[in-house]
Amino acid sequence: MEKIAFYDAKSYDRTYFDRLTAGTGPEIRYLETRLTPETAILSRDCRAVCAFVNDDLGAETVKRLAEQGVGAVALRCAGYNNVDLAAAGEAGLRVYRVPAYSPVSVAEHALALLLTLTRKTHRAFTRTRERNFSLEGLVGTNLENKLVGVIGTGKVGTRFAGMVRGLGAHVAAYDTNPTWGAGIEYVRLDELIRRADVISLHCPLTPSTYHLLSRAAFHRMRDGVIIINTSRGALIDSEALLDNVKSGKVGAAGLDVYEEEADVFYEDVSSKVMRDDTLNLLLSQPNVLVTSHQAFLTEEALRAIAETTLENLRAFFAGESSDNELRAREAETV
Ligand code: NAD
Repeated sequence: MEKIAFYDAKSYDRTYFDRLTAGTGPEIRYLETRLTPETAILSRDCRAVCAFVNDDLGAETVKRLAEQGVGAVALRCAGYNNVDLAAAGEAGLRVYRVPAYSPVSVAEHALALLLTLTRKTHRAFTRTRERNFSLEGLVGTNLENKLVGVIGTGKVGTRFAGMVRGLGAHVAAYDTNPTWGAGIEYVRLDELIRRADVISLHCPLTPSTYHLLSRAAFHRMRDGVIIINTSRGALIDSEALLDNVKSGKVGAAGLDVYEEEADVFYEDVSSKVMRDDTLNLLLSQPNVLVTSHQAFLTEEALRAIAETTLENLRAFFAGESSDNELRAREAETV
């Protein structure tokens, strides 16, 4: 039976993968550890590994995996900024992903962050549990007639745009590859940054989008702008964000991702000292809401992730081609 090493495994992953593989599928070795050059050895008797967003699939890891006979990496996510595709290609390692498991799950989470911040329900929740029924400090804002800037109008961004339009907001979008005719009004990035009341990020992390929201970009934004990021943390210069939250330039920020998240996200570090002061200070602000890269985490998405990942692995083991296989050139074009 084919063996797969499944890194960074959580109980919810096991639930959905076990349901589909019970008795028939490949043998899965669940490993709680992340994939790194040092932990690659744990998959030495496997033909494939299954990895997630914070696993390290840099040049050193892929080289070690290939040297010990691993032939494929099946990512159980859409983004692949953590993979050195060129190095994987050179080492003869095939890389697969799940391009669209449930874009609506991510879009709904972005909307949840936005509505929580505009109506301050995160603060109301903690207050009423303490029997504090005061409304002081809880004045919100409507989304109706506000301008929501959507950066990246692919599968997630398009759905998010549709959701906020349903609430009566106007949408201005920016995409390097616009989908003309989809009823979306496209503007230049600079105009979006200058005019938007809300900026929501839905583009991938690539060398050209690293720190897309830079210190200079924050400077050009409207006072009180709301920032939503469910894409990848390094799209935002976190220190610049923190400074702009402190100055009041940024009215609120909803972050499902954070550029240094790999050290803490998905783990319970509540009894440890957290050394990342930027994150510490962001978490301490009443108008910053951080979730732990959970936008994908719905029953529907987990089921779809397991189905597509196992289908990708089946295609690999059967020697069949798959549209979900990534090639080095895609890293440059997205
Ligand atoms: P997608 O590939 O369908 O869409 C991405 C869009 O971004 C495309 O339209 C592309 O043209 C555009 N784009 C690329 N470079 C750009 C740039 N420089 N400026 C503006 N637009 C640019 O991807 P998707 O399925 O909509 O997912 C979007 C992102 O969401 C992914 O890249 C991933 O990082 C993130 N994501 C996060 C979670 C989560 O749990 N938080 C889950 C899934 C995906």
